[in-house]
Amino acid sequence: MLRDYLAESGVASELYAKVPERANLVARLPGRGGGPSLLLLSHTDTVVADRSEWQVDPWSGELRDGEVWGRGALDMKGEVAASAVAIASLAREGFEPAGDLIFVAAADEEVGDGYGLPWLCEEHPEAVRADYALNEGGGERIELAGRALYLCSTAEKMSSPFRLRVHGRAGHASMPGIADNALTKAAPLIERLAAYRPELRLEEEADALVQTIAGQKLGAEEALALARELDPYAAETLEPLLSLTLSPTMISASGQRNVIPSTCEVVVDCRLLPGQTQAEVEPLLRDVLGEGDYDFEWIEGRGGTRSPLQTPLWDAVAGFVAEADPEAAVVPICVAGFTDSHWLRESFGTVVYGFFPMRTMDARLASRLIHSADERAHVEDLELGAECFRHVARAVCG
Ligand SMILES: [Zn+2]
Repeated sequence: MLRDYLAESGVASELYAKVPERANLVARLPGRGGGPSLLLLSHTDTVVADRSEWQVDPWSGELRDGEVWGRGALDMKGEVAASAVAIASLAREGFEPAGDLIFVAAADEEVGDGYGLPWLCEEHPEAVRADYALNEGGGERIELAGRALYLCSTAEKMSSPFRLRVHGRAGHASMPGIADNALTKAAPLIERLAAYRPELRLEEEADALVQTIAGQKLGAEEALALARELDPYAAETLEPLLSLTLSPTMISASGQRNVIPSTCEVVVDCRLLPGQTQAEVEPLLRDVLGEGDYDFEWIEGRGGTRSPLQTPLWDAVAGFVAEADPEAAVVPICVAGFTDSHWLRESFGTVVYGFFPMRTMDARLASRLIHSADERAHVEDLELGAECFRHVARAVCG
């Protein structure tokens, strides 16, 4: 459908597929040469939807009161559609960019089974290499301390979960004295993690955010105190950007009620600041956990990349906001989760921001609808997004 839609406006696209039913689409307005390239990145897959929880059929795309309802409306078929409209309308107007304008609709982001962008970067790097890119992960309009702000995500935390395997000795549960219960030995370790207050630090994104709101430079502690004073939402947004976070989320021990477990496994969701490494953090965590009969093991380390803030892409985004919403400012933000952006940053050094502007729908409502029931996007926001991409394309590769 996307390929046919683009072809009608004379935009050529290519399908790249690891398996035929999970094709990625790459469309391109070739540059006349000599300018930087810009890639509009999105994904076409979604998370699942349970019909019984929804007011409408989640796969209908029903238009109701100016909103498109359906799974993926916000995350992120809306942005897929806006990107397609932007590139097709530019082509119809005869836009000839200096560098390539590229549109990538990747097939696999939510699960990450290797059909989407990482596979494209590995197998077809020339199809997706670009100097600049816009992706999901930002664009909300929020009001803080009387200022309207659009959040543009320029960095992402690293997903860095770890496992603790606590050792004991099995035994019959009726005679606790003969065993060494790994589950109860895990309890103080979990409590130490819960009590730990990591040192706060103000990275460049949070620093720029705070300076815009406060009008001056502040320390990390002061900034958090100010955010708490202004708005609980501001504090909730800021706090995870100031340090690594630790959330113990899973535990498993004995498989049988009457058997005292010889091992207990605790999985901790841990997010590092961009630039923080596992090697730097591990001694710190071992210190927090203290002595004990356990093994510590990282499960993975994904994301944790950033792009610089002073770039032509930033100027283009800020220029769009100045034109479309003159009272508002754009501020950089580091997001707590991660998106496909890191693949482009790691593979090609691409400057990638998450920015898809949204002002008609309330940002807090939108964040509750993503991956949830009754997901929907306002048509005015989709139009705003398409306008934004057209503006940025002209500014960056025009
Ligand atoms: Zn998404």
